[in-house]
Amino acid sequence: MGKKELATLFSSNPDRYYKVSLFDKMGFTRKKCTRCEKFFWTLDIARDFCPDHENYGFIGKPPTNKRLDYVNAWKETEKFFRANDHKIVRRYPVVCRWREDLYFTIASIVDFQRVIGNQVVFELPANPLVVPQMCLRFNDIENVGLSGRHYTGFCMIGQTCNADAPGGYWKDKCIDLDFGMLTKGLGIKAEDITFVEDVWMGAGAFGYSLEYFVRGLELGNAVFTEFEGNENDYRVMPNKIIDMGAGLERFSWITMGTPTSYDCCFGPVVGKLVDMTGTDTDQEVLTKYFESVSLKLDNKTGGSSSSIRDLKLLIAKEMNISEEQLSAFVAPYEAIYTISDHIRTLVFAISDGALPSNVGGGYNLRVILRRALSILERLGWKNTIRVEDIAELHIDYLRQMYPELEDHRQDVKTILQLEASRYSSSRERMNSVAMSLKSSKKAKELTVDDLIRLYESDGITPDFLMEQGIVQNVPSTFYTKLAELHTSQVSSQSSKPIPGLEDLPPTKLLYYQDESIHHFHAKVLKVVEGKYIVLDQTAFYPRGGGQEPDTGEIEGVKVVEVTKQADVVVHKIEGGGGRIPAEEQTVHGTVNSRRRDLITKHHTATHVLNSASRNALGSWVWQNSAFKEETYGRLDITHHSTLTREEVKKIERMANWVIRENHPVIIKTYDRGDAEQQFSFRIYQGGIVPTSNVRIVNINGWDIEACGGTHVKSTGEIGLVKIVKSERIQDGVVRLEFVAGEAAVSYMQQLDSQLASIAQALGSSRDKVVESFDKAMQDAEGTKKKLRAMLRVVSVPIAKSISEQAKKLDSGIHLYTTYDEELDDDYHIAMGEKAIELDKHLVYLALVSKGQGIRVIVFAGEAACKKVKAGAIAKQVSSKLGGSGGGDNRFGQGGGKSKDRIREALLLAEEVARQL
Ligand SMILES: [Zn+2]
Ligand SMILES: [Zn+2]
Repeated sequence: MGKKELATLFSSNPDRYYKVSLFDKMGFTRKKCTRCEKFFWTLDIARDFCPDHENYGFIGKPPTNKRLDYVNAWKETEKFFRANDHKIVRRYPVVCRWREDLYFTIASIVDFQRVIGNQVVFELPANPLVVPQMCLRFNDIENVGLSGRHYTGFCMIGQTCNADAPGGYWKDKCIDLDFGMLTKGLGIKAEDITFVEDVWMGAGAFGYSLEYFVRGLELGNAVFTEFEGNENDYRVMPNKIIDMGAGLERFSWITMGTPTSYDCCFGPVVGKLVDMTGTDTDQEVLTKYFESVSLKLDNKTGGSSSSIRDLKLLIAKEMNISEEQLSAFVAPYEAIYTISDHIRTLVFAISDGALPSNVGGGYNLRVILRRALSILERLGWKNTIRVEDIAELHIDYLRQMYPELEDHRQDVKTILQLEASRYSSSRERMNSVAMSLKSSKKAKELTVDDLIRLYESDGITPDFLMEQGIVQNVPSTFYTKLAELHTSQVSSQSSKPIPGLEDLPPTKLLYYQDESIHHFHAKVLKVVEGKYIVLDQTAFYPRGGGQEPDTGEIEGVKVVEVTKQADVVVHKIEGGGGRIPAEEQTVHGTVNSRRRDLITKHHTATHVLNSASRNALGSWVWQNSAFKEETYGRLDITHHSTLTREEVKKIERMANWVIRENHPVIIKTYDRGDAEQQFSFRIYQGGIVPTSNVRIVNINGWDIEACGGTHVKSTGEIGLVKIVKSERIQDGVVRLEFVAGEAAVSYMQQLDSQLASIAQALGSSRDKVVESFDKAMQDAEGTKKKLRAMLRVVSVPIAKSISEQAKKLDSGIHLYTTYDEELDDDYHIAMGEKAIELDKHLVYLALVSKGQGIRVIVFAGEAACKKVKAGAIAKQVSSKLGGSGGGDNRFGQGGGKSKDRIREALLLAEEVARQL
């Protein structure tokens, strides 16, 4: 049974599923659409088709006397639901940190969904509640700004409740409230409202729904999630969920009746951009066009950009102007709408800690930012408008509704500026690619795949190619395909499971009871293949959360690896011989305390450094991954650029300050929802926690993370942390390698003794080592200079003797060959030049020992050149040495690695010169 069959099933029993008390009370009648056979409920007796086939009848004539801009539409909604006993919950981040399968929050209900195993569970922080949830979706990018109603970021008003928990309600009350919101809140007349029957299917749960429309515009959809399981095997959920989602953009639009929803949803942004760019288009033409698009765009197709293009043609005809004329009128507005949307989305994403990049969800952010920048460039606006200024305009307006945006104003500006400057510096390379595209004939035949390749390899957006006149339009599937390529690529790496552990009870974890337990007694529950041991309880920490496992002994047998399989801890032993413990035996276990202690210090140090990095760099810093072992730790953070030496020092200073302050490290288990509300989603630095309880490691408010690792009791125990290396390992990720505790001391001592040996070699002391080194460098430079001068003096007599020593061959060539382990190439270049000057018949060949290989240098005098080319000899000799070489008539060079063929190489040269 699919969605369609399910719809048929639900609609076959409307009294059970769809009929709500409001319909009886108000006299709504149920009808079957004469065009698509969907069922709908209306007060209009004459109506025989559902709103899917209805044009937007509210444009220019809104069905209410209220005029609510975006923020006021929210205030009205908030007021209504608050008065009706709903808790108003602050929006959740647009970066979905609590679901592994999503980068971005795509719907309001996602806020309250947690995945445990394969099951989606609902966790509501209040009941009932309403949330103004900003949602990001990147599957319709090409329609944004054109259709009048598509966005990459929009606010979904989520009205949610658990019907079976205190405060909950079911469909009658839900529809009563939504009807009240529309009529009392927005001032819409009851006759204008139509409800359409539909179904909703999600992961592991489904239900039926009533979509509500006003004059052709879908305003919201109330989903009654009643069943769990799949459509073939299901039961009524013990906690049924109401999930009503309505578009705030649409609430505002229906009351304003503007040609597009963009005109009323970006506050003053559109107007300001029109002023700033001096866009001066015939308002009448414009209004008529966008009205027509909104009115005529098929609700069903969702407005694909190809249908928008067809519409443009049609509308141009109606208006009696050419398509080009119309496009010229419309383009600046489409641009302003698109840019407004894209920058607003970026404001939310960056505020919530995401960075534009080439990987993961950051990909979409860079795509839309580059698109906005391309458009600014194409319309010649790049000197008038800066993207960060548009972001400021958005924040100025939206902070009434989302005050937290104010806190991130500077971060948003920093990132947008940085990305814009990166874009403009990459334009040079993009320009040269564009030039070669223009000259090759391929431009005409660029497919969507070609365009995707161009973006992936050179960052060239189709908008840029449009700007260059290389393509005429952006293919409607480009952004969809691109988004598909970069959606969730979460890979789970699972090692091969050990068989026979399925029925064992969960291991009791002594390290959570008390980390200081390093000796313990336990009963052996299972031995597999003579090398895996499962105990009823253990103090051994298993590999996990980037923390390396404990080692130690069980009954004197070495434990070399500890892992966790489901809830069972498995100890891998080695070298037990005949002493392998037997099942049912009581054994004594000992954890290697020193190793545990060092790993623990590195683990807490990771948390300290993570927050130090965020404080030193910016709020976009999140842990990307981490690794802690005995001798060092590694922390990968999200950051846009390579760290400067100053930044590294700043992080290090902050971290060590927190260590010296000796803050207590408090570990407590919380209900997951409570932890999220109390500490925010910052707790998920190490990824998602798949249980309803979370273990929170709180370093006295400095750093608060959900973490299952071992930790010191107070930061002072770490002693010292030292960053030994930082490097940018991928776009948007910087790796810090560090040492803590005793490992830091060892590291310092090692540096110190290295310094001492250098000082000794320089005949200096440690405090003067830099001076001495500088002096030694100067001396070396001076010596080189002297040598060069000496070489000039002695080169004439040496050159003469070379000429005398050269073999006078029958071919008329004077051949001089030498292999040298002591003198360098500087010497042979100087000497060769001089020698061929004195003896025009001379061929000078030197093989110079250089590290692992041989360098080949060949000179040929003016007369010799006529018979044999220096470059050709260099090539042959080098290839004999297993390398390559070349050059011109007079000078050739090359080299190879086969030191054992030096003699052969010299003989070869002689043969070549002899055989001429
Ligand atoms: Zn219909
Ligand atoms: Zn941790």
